[in-house]
Amino acid sequence: MDYFDPHIHMVSRTTDDYETLAKMGCVAVSEPAFWAGFDRGSVDGFRDYFRQLTEFEPTRAGWYGIQHYTWLCINAKEAENVSLSREVIAMIPEFLDQPGVLGIGEIGLNKNTKNESIVFQEHVELALKTDEQILIHTPHLEDKYQGTRMILDMLTSDSRLNRARVLVDHVEEHTVRHVLEAGFWAGMTLYPVSKCTPARAADIVERYGPERLLVNSAGDWGPSKPTAVPDFILEMRRRGHPESLIRQVVYDNPIRFFGQSRGFRGVPGDAS
Ligand SMILES: [Zn+2]
Repeated sequence: MDYFDPHIHMVSRTTDDYETLAKMGCVAVSEPAFWAGFDRGSVDGFRDYFRQLTEFEPTRAGWYGIQHYTWLCINAKEAENVSLSREVIAMIPEFLDQPGVLGIGEIGLNKNTKNESIVFQEHVELALKTDEQILIHTPHLEDKYQGTRMILDMLTSDSRLNRARVLVDHVEEHTVRHVLEAGFWAGMTLYPVSKCTPARAADIVERYGPERLLVNSAGDWGPSKPTAVPDFILEMRRRGHPESLIRQVVYDNPIRFFGQSRGFRGVPGDAS
């Protein structure tokens, strides 16, 4: 089955991974900007990273027939440096008209601090000013519920925001309902060590239905599995779900959500 991985950090993966993804049916990926494993030292470090995301990664993906999309921001882990964050936010518009840029992300919270909230809101302000979509990272494990609440409160108190153009990622059983009921899109991340498993993601689809739900691998430089979306497809098939339902989650929904971005160029082979 053709599928679209809506959240994967391909800069951290090998070219062999692209080949494997293509063989498993991946036709498109969307890559949010994220933390490199160390704090970048200057705005020029981010400028080089954004060039990698908008120039070289689409080329590398193209070798395997995969359409590559990206999102730009400074990660919440680096938001304690508010002055550097502001320099990066001011520089992002240089890249917003590059082909394949879908919006601002993944912004969010990490430890739910005051500075993280300030930098989060300044990113949202940039997205509103430039009419960009937003992709949001919610914190891990014990910080997730409170962080998700804080993010939803900040977003829902802003009447200018079109919630149908915001994707809140890494939802789990205790946060997904809040995100969907507020009118946002929700992404489930399939990770081997934390976040969701394919079986838990299938349970969530069974419970809430497929509307505005996405499934991603969030493959990165840590323990993660870039082929996690096919694992979800297999789990759904095992449970006897129709192909049309599975396809809605792994293919139609990403195209519907991302299709609202002016940088969206479709996916290879899609006639719809
Ligand atoms: Zn990520």
